[in-house]
Amino acid sequence: MDLLAADELCEEIVMTEQFATVIPLPAPVLLPINGETASFPVRRVYCVGRNYADHAIEMGHDPSREPPFFFQKNPNNLLPNSDFPYPPLSSDVHHEVELVVALKSGGSDIPAERALDCIYGYAVGIDFTRRDLQGEAKKLGRPWEVSKAFESSAPVSAIAPATQVGHPDKGGIWLMRNGESVQRGDLSQMIWKVPEIITELSKLFTLAPGDVIMTGTPAGVGPVARGDRISCAVDGVATLMLNVV
Ligand code: MN
Repeated sequence: MDLLAADELCEEIVMTEQFATVIPLPAPVLLPINGETASFPVRRVYCVGRNYADHAIEMGHDPSREPPFFFQKNPNNLLPNSDFPYPPLSSDVHHEVELVVALKSGGSDIPAERALDCIYGYAVGIDFTRRDLQGEAKKLGRPWEVSKAFESSAPVSAIAPATQVGHPDKGGIWLMRNGESVQRGDLSQMIWKVPEIITELSKLFTLAPGDVIMTGTPAGVGPVARGDRISCAVDGVATLMLNVV
C-alpha cells in the first residue's frame, strides 16, 4: 500500500466512524418544492391553536386576542401528496385546512419586522385531529399529542417558494369534502399574523432552518370518513388533494 492509499483509507475510516449508528439512521423528512429538484428538509413542526375567530367560536371559545398557543406534530407525521390513512382508536377525525410556513432561517426573539426574512416558502396542509381524543384530553387537562401527533396526521402540499408567491396575508383558504364546500375562510382573518406567530414562537423556542409552522384553521372543521375525497387550497399558493383510506 502506498502512502496516498493509506491516507485515503484513513479518511474512509473516519467517515465511517462519524456516521456509524447502532440502528439504521432514521430517514430524513423531505418535502417537494414547486419548480425545484432539491427538496425541503423538515426539522420540527409547530402548530398554532385557534387562530381564526370563527373557528374559536365554533369550538366554544372567546376569540379575543389572547396570546397564541402552540403544540407540535412530528416531522414524519407530514405526508407529502398521498392518501390519508384513517387512524386507529378514533371515530371522530376532523379536517383542519391550514396555511403552512417553511423556514429557511431562525433564531430566538425574532422581531416581527424581520420575521418574513426567515421564510423559505408556503404550502397548504391539513392538521388532522382525533377530535374525540382531544375532547377527552381537554376535559382531563392532559396533553394533546394523541389527538394531534399521530401517524400521517399532517398531509401537506409541495412548498411554493416565497420567491414565486410572495408572502400571502390575504386570499382564500378552503377545503372541500366529496365536492361539497365545508371550510372557507380568508388568510386576512388570522388573529395572529404570520410575522407575529414567528415572533411569539421564537420567544419560546429557538427556531431553525427546516422548521415548519401550521398556522391555524378557519371555521367549518368536521369529520372525515374512509372513502372521502378531500381537496383544499390556499388560493394562489398551493392545492392538495387526497383520499381518506
Ligand atoms: Mn389546527
